[in-house]
Amino acid sequence: MTVLVINSGSSSIKYQLVDPESGESIAAGLVERIGEEMGRVEHEYAGEETAIDMPVPDHGAGLREVLRLFEEKGPSLTDGSIAAVGHRIVQGGKYFDGPALVDDEVQGRIEELIPLGPLHNPAHLAGIKVARELLPDIPHVAVFDTAFFQGLPAEAHTYAIDRDIAEKHSIRRYGAHGTSHRFVSGEVSKLLGRDDLKQIVLHIGNGASASAVVAGKAVETSMGLTPLEGLVMGTRTGDIDPAVVFHLGREAGMSIDELDDLFNRRSGMKGLAGDNDMRIVEAKMDAGDENAKLAFDVYVHRLVKYIGAYAAVMGGLDAITFTAGIGENSNTVRRLVCERLAPFGVRLDGAKNDVRSKGQRVISTPDSTIAVLVVPTNEELAIARQSMEVVG
Ligand code: AMP
Repeated sequence: MTVLVINSGSSSIKYQLVDPESGESIAAGLVERIGEEMGRVEHEYAGEETAIDMPVPDHGAGLREVLRLFEEKGPSLTDGSIAAVGHRIVQGGKYFDGPALVDDEVQGRIEELIPLGPLHNPAHLAGIKVARELLPDIPHVAVFDTAFFQGLPAEAHTYAIDRDIAEKHSIRRYGAHGTSHRFVSGEVSKLLGRDDLKQIVLHIGNGASASAVVAGKAVETSMGLTPLEGLVMGTRTGDIDPAVVFHLGREAGMSIDELDDLFNRRSGMKGLAGDNDMRIVEAKMDAGDENAKLAFDVYVHRLVKYIGAYAAVMGGLDAITFTAGIGENSNTVRRLVCERLAPFGVRLDGAKNDVRSKGQRVISTPDSTIAVLVVPTNEELAIARQSMEVVG
């Protein structure tokens, strides 16, 4: 049995047909530039790649073309082999602490949560609606990025603001990237053969978040009401004094929308170093660019600060795991973070850290007090497996 995993963005749909048991990706593709004059649909199956440039007016048209390509190029989606369609949903609010079978009520909740996920939930909803229409006989499952963090202790998810206002406006830490943090921390437990671990997962890609996980349960995470809080990211500030908002509003006359754009799209590595791609920032730093050097230092400093805080919150630390684009690929970021943790007994194996690999691996020495790992995240597989949990 397979699961079709769908990730609908505002102008794109990514999809993958996954075997949840073996983890194999059987077919994959994407629809890009939905709503623009010219869009593109790509499909890959059994070594054959198909790409079609065509106008894709909306999500429905995009998904219809994807289903047509499945029938034309394979594998067939109508031969009864699909167990579920799994949909990635960024914001599940207070309603979902795990995956949910999509019905009209669940769809209504995702719609109700649009104010908390204004960039993502409308696109997810569009994807779910057309997918349910086009594949009505297959169960659809919503897998929420926030679900892994619904069980955070109250002291970790509560912001210290007026309780009535927080209650009225659903203000709390929801976190994000939860599917990845759950998957990666689970893989670490399997790899180290322990289910009682106190661990930190650093999901550092263009978006970046840290989580503290004790015995498989999340107890802290760095993203907050939205994915803006926490680590320094490609284009987002991460933590910043909220008074900067008041200050720029009053002194620079910036509107809320301008500040939203500044904090979410023009800050982080892009704001500091002029580029959000860590490969370019590293190259600039190596070439002696001082802005890139400072950006890198701020980036590493924030990571180290979170690791220290989370170790204290958990009362100990067994494993630190790097994942996502930067975590999986940047031996420099991993080395600089671990060097700063040497006083706590962290010992990186330099040779292992420098190996480029797509595999799960321990990169610390046997005598390191804390294990350091690289575990590639696989959100599609995680969504497929969670979908199977729901449909049995
Ligand atoms: P993601 O959002 O997980 O796809 O990660 C994207 C980020 O990973 C971008 O900032 C990339 O520059 C970064 N990345 C990918 N490969 C490397 C690499 N070899 N070294 C440093 N950063 C990398």
